[in-house]
Amino acid sequence: MSDIQDEKSEKRGLNFVEEIVERDLSEGKNDGRIQTRFPPEPNGYLHIGHAKAICMDFGIAEKYGGVCNLRFDDTNPQKEDQEYVDSILEDIKWLGFKWGHVYYASDYFQKLWDFAVRLIKEGKAYVDEQTSEQIAEQKGTPTEPGRPSPYRDRPIEESLDLFNKMNKGEVPEGSMVLRAKIDMANPNMHFRDPVIYRIINRRHHRTGDKWKAYPMYDFAHGQSDYFEGVTHSICTLEFVPHRPLYDYFIDELKKGKDLNDHRPRQYEFNRLNLTYTVMSKRKLHALVDEQLVKGWDDPRMPTLCGLRRRGYSPESIRNFINMIGYTKYDALNDYAMLEAAAREDLNKRATRVSAVLHPLKLTITNYPEGQTEQMQAINNPEDPDFGTHEITFSRELWIEREDFMEDAPKKYFRLTPGKEVRLKNAYIIKCTGCRKGDDGQVEEVYAEYDPESRSGLPGADRKVKGTLHWLSRGHAVKAEVRLYDRLFSVENPSADERDFRELLNPDSLEVLTDCYVEPFAANQTAGSYLQFQRIGYFTPDKCTAPEHPVYNRTVNLKDTWAKKKD
Ligand code: ATP
Ligand code: MG
Repeated sequence: MSDIQDEKSEKRGLNFVEEIVERDLSEGKNDGRIQTRFPPEPNGYLHIGHAKAICMDFGIAEKYGGVCNLRFDDTNPQKEDQEYVDSILEDIKWLGFKWGHVYYASDYFQKLWDFAVRLIKEGKAYVDEQTSEQIAEQKGTPTEPGRPSPYRDRPIEESLDLFNKMNKGEVPEGSMVLRAKIDMANPNMHFRDPVIYRIINRRHHRTGDKWKAYPMYDFAHGQSDYFEGVTHSICTLEFVPHRPLYDYFIDELKKGKDLNDHRPRQYEFNRLNLTYTVMSKRKLHALVDEQLVKGWDDPRMPTLCGLRRRGYSPESIRNFINMIGYTKYDALNDYAMLEAAAREDLNKRATRVSAVLHPLKLTITNYPEGQTEQMQAINNPEDPDFGTHEITFSRELWIEREDFMEDAPKKYFRLTPGKEVRLKNAYIIKCTGCRKGDDGQVEEVYAEYDPESRSGLPGADRKVKGTLHWLSRGHAVKAEVRLYDRLFSVENPSADERDFRELLNPDSLEVLTDCYVEPFAANQTAGSYLQFQRIGYFTPDKCTAPEHPVYNRTVNLKDTWAKKKD
């Protein structure tokens, strides 16, 4: 696309793929139909990088009145499993997208086989009995042509016979492959007689033992797109050099059949790379298998189920994808942007509750023993529709340890002897002193309250500098809080020479077991979005229970990582 066109589409807020789609529509390609697909290989859980592809594939279909189907690219039974299929369906639904059909590449095994047989019969494919090393060694380099295999011109009948044997399990795995016979001197290495079928002696999660010869990605993907009627096959940049081969096989497949040139077209965008994490399925598998994290949905994982358990909303992920956009060059995006998107969304979505992570006892010495009061707490100051809930006030409270200081600097607007602060939704109190244990640690803080200052009362708008959150000791529920941080301690673990295991952040998880929350928070279930006031965004973990609540920290209220780095 020219620079002028780029500028035009930018003005209309289109990304470059949308620009292409509009051009294709205006040229009447594929009779003006729009059909995309999202093609995951069911060999792992979806991660935030997949979310970028999902937003593109489903987004284009939604925007242009088309359909996006799901196609499981299940052509390698070694690593695939139903567990992954199920999780992928769940995660796409959670992100908020609806597919048309669910297809499986394995549904096309027979059609692909028939096509391969046709190519052999037309002298365009042959069975090669060399090892993969020998084949690689003959491939040449981008500037040097490759050398032909000694099997390249073997009789068609022989190839047909061996191809059948490959599929019946009559020859060992690795002993032979089927190669397309194209051009060993082509400057595009993918044209140098690419392998299109190999033997895998493994049960397939859908087709069982029916097949032993399985098609390679390049032979399955484009043809599957064609069988389904895909119009725009959108993928990531590493497939740019595969595109001519994609087109070649489709040309061969539809030869003489379709004069109107109905065909899928491949377009590529940049994949998502994020700082402080990895997106390679191999590495994510290793993290899970070697128990370096606690499963695919460990809240430190970049997987969608991990982010969900961490308390990210689907909207925050979609907003983040929107923020970073789609380009034609690879980049590394800052994890802090994902966190900023979460903060922005959760600010609107999260219910405000009180929690004390490092408790310190505060006694209001002039408040009658045994007395309690119900205070009104606003659920979300951003949205009155969230309503209010009650929180109990009493003589003995919990406050955060860091909200008291015996000898405080001038600008300390929290609790220190002689100074006033407001207890949120309750009274103004004045600190009168503290009691220390034998080790010198402060064990209890004393204060007196001003009965005229209760929030909401007329004349209670007396201003004091600091506002603290608090919990009633007799009502608060003991809680476990899991503080998560970046999984890796280096910015770009994938570019590091060291083994990625050595780069894990040793402080990525801190478990606090001596925290307290208000009963209202203890009763929230997994999937709800909470803000612990003055601390950050949290979500109840899947193992939470009202009598033993457990929370995961989604993100702090402010970006503390930037500071830590200095
Ligand atoms: P692998 O092929 O190594 O198993 P993959 O990450 O490519 O892993 P697929 O299941 O093949 O996994 O991916 C499905 C789709 O998601 C593909 O179209 C792929 O291009 C896209 N995708 C995968 N990772 C990213 C990423 N980091 N950013 C954007 N799109 C991605
Ligand atoms: Mg892939």
